[in-house]
Amino acid sequence: MKCENCGNQLFIDDRFCSRCGAKVKQSSTYNHDQHQQTVVDQNPPREKKSVALAVILSLIIVGVGQIYLGQVLKGLVLLISSLLIGFVTVGLGAFVLWILVAIDAYKIANKINEGRTVDEWEFF
Ligand SMILES: [Zn+2]
Repeated sequence: MKCENCGNQLFIDDRFCSRCGAKVKQSSTYNHDQHQQTVVDQNPPREKKSVALAVILSLIIVGVGQIYLGQVLKGLVLLISSLLIGFVTVGLGAFVLWILVAIDAYKIANKINEGRTVDEWEFF
């Protein structure tokens, strides 16, 4: 949107031009549409994730549920960690991690479905 008087670029909520002080003509419907467009841009519709699938995937292979939820690096690190920990602790550590990772997949999937922003490395 531009000032009709001087051509200055205006913000959508401006009532007066910041450069020349001219009153800005605004059609209310136009303004309304612009606001709605902005809201849509800021919150693109996010794909819902299946909580059950995320948990099942993580139970089959540690970390795969996280990869499904978009936390690819985290999932891979969890997978490699579980193999290393499992080797060192003769499976016991991997079992504990396996349970924790499944719980993590459950929590993260719920956060995503609630529309919350989930960091690549966010746990639980
Ligand atoms: Zn102006």
